[in-house]
Order: sequence, then C-alpha cells, then structure tokens
Amino acid sequence: MLHDSRNRFWLATPNRGIALFTKEKGIIKYYSEKNGLANNQTLAVLEDNEHFLWISTTNGLSKFDPESERFHNFSLKNGFQNNQFTYGAAYKTTQGELLFGGISGFNVFNPTKIKSGDYFPQIVLTDLKIFNKSVKIGDQKKDVLTKSISETYKIVLQYDMNSITLDFASFDYANSIGIQYSYFLENFDKDWNEPSVNRSATYTNLDPGEYTFQVKTVSIDRKESNLGPVLKIIVRPPYWEKWWFRGLVFLSLSSLLYLLITFLLNKEKLKNDLHLERINARKLHELDMMKLRFYTNISHEIRTPLTLILGPLEKMRANTIPQNDMKGHVEVMYRNATQLHQLINQLLDFRKLESGNLKLTLACGDMVSFLAEIVGSFDKYAEEKEISLKFNSLKKEIITNFDADKLGKIMNNLLSNAFKFTGKGGKVSVNLSLVFDSNENEESGGSPDTRMIEITVKDTGIGIAETNLEKIFIRFFQVDDGAKQTGTGIGLALTKELVKLHHGDISVQSKPGKGSKFTIHLPYEEVMKQEPAGTANVDELIEPAGIRRMEELTAETMPSGRKIMLLVDDNSDVRYFIKSHFNTNYQVLEAENGLEGWTIALKTIPDIIICDVMMPDIDGFELCRKIRKDERTSHIPIILVTALGSREHEIEGLSYGADDYITKPFDLVILQTKVENILSVRQSLKQKYTSEMLLQPRNIILSSPDERFLQKAIEVVENNISDPDLDIERFATAIGVSRMQLYRKLDALTEMTVKEFVRNIRLKRAAQLLVQKKLNISEIAYAVGFKDLSHFRKCFKLEFGMSASEYVDKNINP
Ligand code: ADP
Repeated sequence: MLHDSRNRFWLATPNRGIALFTKEKGIIKYYSEKNGLANNQTLAVLEDNEHFLWISTTNGLSKFDPESERFHNFSLKNGFQNNQFTYGAAYKTTQGELLFGGISGFNVFNPTKIKSGDYFPQIVLTDLKIFNKSVKIGDQKKDVLTKSISETYKIVLQYDMNSITLDFASFDYANSIGIQYSYFLENFDKDWNEPSVNRSATYTNLDPGEYTFQVKTVSIDRKESNLGPVLKIIVRPPYWEKWWFRGLVFLSLSSLLYLLITFLLNKEKLKNDLHLERINARKLHELDMMKLRFYTNISHEIRTPLTLILGPLEKMRANTIPQNDMKGHVEVMYRNATQLHQLINQLLDFRKLESGNLKLTLACGDMVSFLAEIVGSFDKYAEEKEISLKFNSLKKEIITNFDADKLGKIMNNLLSNAFKFTGKGGKVSVNLSLVFDSNENEESGGSPDTRMIEITVKDTGIGIAETNLEKIFIRFFQVDDGAKQTGTGIGLALTKELVKLHHGDISVQSKPGKGSKFTIHLPYEEVMKQEPAGTANVDELIEPAGIRRMEELTAETMPSGRKIMLLVDDNSDVRYFIKSHFNTNYQVLEAENGLEGWTIALKTIPDIIICDVMMPDIDGFELCRKIRKDERTSHIPIILVTALGSREHEIEGLSYGADDYITKPFDLVILQTKVENILSVRQSLKQKYTSEMLLQPRNIILSSPDERFLQKAIEVVENNISDPDLDIERFATAIGVSRMQLYRKLDALTEMTVKEFVRNIRLKRAAQLLVQKKLNISEIAYAVGFKDLSHFRKCFKLEFGMSASEYVDKNINP
C-alpha cells in the first residue's frame, strides 16, 4: 500500500490491479489491465518525485499518471531484469531513485530519465578486425583506417584481407539493455541476419567486389527497428585479376605462342629447304651425269659412223678396194652418213624445239599410206636383223591433216628403238586405228572431233623396268642396265615433244623381258572429199589431197602438202646447208648438176628452183633458159646463186629469165625472204589468171608461155565440153604433157585441181549458153558434159552463188 503526496492511498491487489481509496470513502476505484495496467496481479507501488506512480506486476512495470489516469508499461526489452517482479520488493531512495526487485535481481533507475514508450539508442561501429585483429588508425601495413571506424563510411581492403569482423554497440549503453541487433552485408548476405544481442558481425572469404554493411537495432517483439551506420567495403581484386595484369599475361602468352609457332615453322621451313636443296642437288647431279653420258655417247655416236665412212674412203683413196667389194663399202658409208645426218637433224630439232622455232605444218593426206611407207622403209633392216615387221590398219584410208615431217620423225624414233631393243626372231608391229573418246561410243556416231588417231608401236624386245617407264621421256635419260648402250637419250624426249606439238599424247606400257608398246594419240580432223563419190564421171580426177599427188612424184619425195623446192648445186655441202634450212617448210629435192636439175624439174614441176650458176655441163644460165622456154616449166620461179658477183653476170642471169639472184656467200634469211616474196607474187598472179582468163574462156589474147599453156588447156576442155568421159589421161595427152605435169602446172597457174579446172570451164560455158537462151537447162547441162542434172544444179550454185534460172533472170533483165 502507498500513501502518496496528495494524501491518497494506493493498494496493490493480487488480482484486480491497483485500488484507490480514502479513509473517508474507502475504495473508490480499481485500475486494472482494462485501463492499461501491465498486469492485474500487482506486487508493489512507489511514487516518484514527479508524482507518477510505478507499479510492479507479474508481467512488467507500469508507470501511472493519476491525473490523466494513463499507464505506460515497461518490460524486459526496456532493459529490466525480468517481467516477473517480487511481491513488496520496492523502495525509493532519498535521491528519488526507484528500486524494484524481481526473480532475476533488481533494477535501480532514475524515473525522470526513463522515457515513456520503446527506446532505441543510436548505434556506432566500435571496431574493425581483420583476421581477428583490431585495425588501428593509420596502420602502415594495412592502410585501411585513416580515422576511427565510427567516423568511417568506406574502407578499402586488399584481396588478402577478406576475413573481417565489425563490432558495434549502442551509444547509451546503460539504456541498451535488452536491445537486439541485426546486420546485413549487401552483395553477400541474402537478407538481414536473425536479430540477437550479439554485437559483432564476422565475414570470411569476401570475394573482390563492393559491399555495403548495415546494422540496426530491433525491438524484442521485432515490430520496431532503428537503422544504424552504413559502411561501404571494397575488396580489391588481386593483381592477377586486374585487367592490366590479364592484358599483360595475354600479351606475353600470345607473343610466346607466336615465337613458338614461328620457331616451329622456321624449323620446318629449314628442314624443307634442306630437303629441297638435297633433292635439287641430287637432280643436278643426275642431270650432270646424264649430260656427261650424253656427251660421251654423242661423241661415240659421231665417231662410229665417221670411222665407218672414213675407213672405206681411205681404202678408196689408196685404191685398195677390189671392184666387186666396192658396192658393199659404199653401202656402209651411205648408211653411216645417213645415220649421222639423222643425228644432226635430231639435235637441230631439239635446238629448234627449245627456242620455240619448231612449228607445226599441217597438210592433208592419207595417214594409212603414209605410215605404210615409213614402216616399209624398215623392211630391209628387219630382214637383216631377222625380226618380223608388220603394219596393220583397220581403215583403208584415213584422210586427215597432219605434219608429215614431224610424224615421220616420231615413227622413225619409235621404230629405231623397237629394232634396237629387240633381238633376233622378235616381232615389231605398228597398228593404226581410229578410236573414240572414252565419253563417246561408236553407236552415238561420235562427232569427228571426239575421234582420235591411235598409233601403236609394239615390240617383243627387252622391255623397260617399271621404275624407268616415267623417265625414258626425259632427255638424256638412258636405262642404266650395266651393258654398254648406244644412243643419246634424246630420241624419246624429242618424240614426246613432237607429239605434244602435234596436240597429241604418248604413253608406254612395258614388261621387262616381254616387250614394249608405245601408244600415240593424235587429233583426228576429218577432211571431206571435195565431191561426193559417183556424181560425175571425172571421178578418177579426184585428187583428195596433196599426198596423192605426191605419191605420183619421184620416189625420194616425202608425201606432204608442202611446196616443192628444187636445189641445183654441184656442191653437196651447199645443198645440205640450204636444205637443212628449208626442210621444215618445203619439200626439198636435190640435183647435183644442170642436167639432173632439168630432169627433176620436168618430172616434178617444183614450185621454186634455187640454182647455182657455175656447174659442169649445163650451167645455171642454160638451165634457166631451158626452163623458161618450155611451156611445162615456164612458170617456175628461179633464183640463181652466183659466186661471180659482177653486175654483168647478174644482168645475164636475169635476161635468161631468172626471177632473182643471190651472191655467195649468202645469208639464209635473205634467201628465205626472196623465196617467200617470189612465191607471194606468184600467188597474186594465179588469182589474176583464175579470175581473168577463166572467167571468159576464149575472149582473151594470150602471149606468155604460161598463158599459152592455159589457152591450150582451155581449148582441150572446150573441144571436149560435151564429153562427160574426159579424164586426166586424155587431157594430159591432148595437151602434150604428163599427168603430173598437167596437174602441177594447173595448180601453179590457177591453184585448181585438174577436175576443178575442167568443171570450171564447163560451168562458165553453161552460163554463156544460159544467157543465149537457145537451150533449156537440162539440154545445157548435157551440152557441157554433166550426166546428172541435179549435180549440175548443185555445182552451178556453188560456182555462181545462185541457181541457173536466177542467173538467167539476172543477166537478161539486169
Ligand atoms: P636412245 O637414243 O638412248 O635410244 P631414247 O630416248 O630413244 O634414247 O630412249 C631412252 C631409253 O629408253 C633407252 O636408252 C632405252 O633404255 C629405253 N627404250 C626406249 N625404247 C625402248 C624399247 N622399245 N624397248 C626397250 N627399251 C627402250
């Protein structure tokens, strides 16, 4: 019970709160939980100096203002010992402090300082520990704090200071009893920590980065909180995580890698270079060896035939050869000289090939007869060596364009090799056929350009080892089989080049001991005959190509469509000199004196004659005169080669009808230019003859021997114009020349074959008759010797570019 300063009595009741009573009136009022008391079970009542009442209960302490009749309750959270106080345990000191006892001790307080309601003191950070060690201000080593932690808002830590403890406390320690704390490290914690009375926060293993530390006080019932200080914490990354360090590391690694790669590459390159150098050195050595062998062989190749020529010659000079042995010796000499000649030609060809001067000269001809002839030239040799030689062709005739000179050399090389490497009783065969490209087949008809000419040269000789098959086409290469070899090793290399020049290819199959087979493919260009067979009776005059004409020439001429050049000189060296120059582009015939020259000229009607002036018997001037005088040869251009050099002689030569002259010693290029000039002038003359004379038969007066010859030829045709059976034989006889002369002469003057010439005149006459309009077309066709009207129409259109009736229309009503 309490007797207060205003003379009132207050009673602490065990279950109804506190009661107010006066002596006079007794209990006036009860104040219970309903009025805001902490608990109805009251234990003690004290009055402070400000006249407030303090009541201890079993559930906290209540402050009561009797004037306003309002309670304020305090509890454990305000720092009191416990909510359970003890009955009667209350005392007021003389200083006005109040003292209450409870089950957990007692509290003494100055009631004036206790604020009403919850009280939260301000929080401060009190310490920073790194690895459990307090950090001092200005710690040199750590360099974290420059002022007290309580005044610091930001700390920067090195990556290795990442275990920290932060201590904090409320400012007013005395009044902070029962306060709980919660903290939160932004970027690290997910949420605020569970509140507790614990006043420190520890974080270990903080990764480099930025964090914010916050702490707050929390009321016991966790309804209220008060935010404390905010501290920014930066943990620096270690140097190896810094961009510059990483950049540096990246750069160093890249340069290291680069150095490594270049080193390895250089090493590899060096290795390769060394390897290449070794290969080159080996190749050079091989080439050197091959060249050396070539020189040794070539001297042998030259010496042997030379010995075989000089030997018999010596004997001849000493007159020690019996007459009946003479022929044999001459044969030996001749064969060896030919061999030497061939060798020199081969070397020259090689030289020309290398300097790009060897040109392909295509001419139309029959390849079957051409090859047959070449193979035939080995017959005697085959007989001597007792080797069987065969030539087979599936076709009777293959008319195509080819370079006879090159193909001749190719075949000679292959055949010589076949004979050289085949022993007694062996077989050599040459096969010729047309094959189809692998993409085409015979049924589909294969267009001409997909067909190829295949020539194989097969022998049953020693064969070639597989390792050498690739190499035999390399120049100077010879199979080194221990046995002493003859030859130079350039034959096949030259052959291959010649085949290539001819747009073909060459391959070889061989088995040692069994034999070898060389296969050549050449492009096949089908050449149409000028007239379909059976359309005219002059068929026998068909001269499909130069070759056939040539076959009728002298035996020594090579079949080809080249121009024929006749060399007349008593000095064989001079002849050889000129011949070797013109050989590629001309068919060169040789005569060693004027008389022989005349005979050959008459027989072959050459395209040009180069003739020496000083010769025994018939000299150059005489030959010139003879040729000019004769109708058959009068058209042939002549160049005189004179050593005299005097103007009189030159004039004399020209007066005999020579077209030009050249003085010894002469330059072959100048001679060639002269030849070409003359031939091109002839060409234009030919055109003149063809256009002027043949255009209007019989209307032109002719004076020169050539013109007279032409006139005669025209006359013969005109006289026989209605005779469809006029053939070359009758034509030549009528004009007084041989078939060949007629052929060559007409070709030289008009560039027409005999058949074309005849047909031309027939058609011109037909045109004249058409304009006269006395006969109809079919009568005219028969009148000019055509048996077949449709053939006549076809030829007429070809010649005049229009049909017969159009021609009549155009010429009668222009
Ligand atoms: P060579 O002038 O030495 O004959 P080639 O170039 O013609 O030169 O030939 C080169 C080499 O190829 C010859 O040395 C020879 O060993 C080999 N060879 C060429 N043709 C035949 C063949 N029909 N049979 C066997 N070996 C051949």
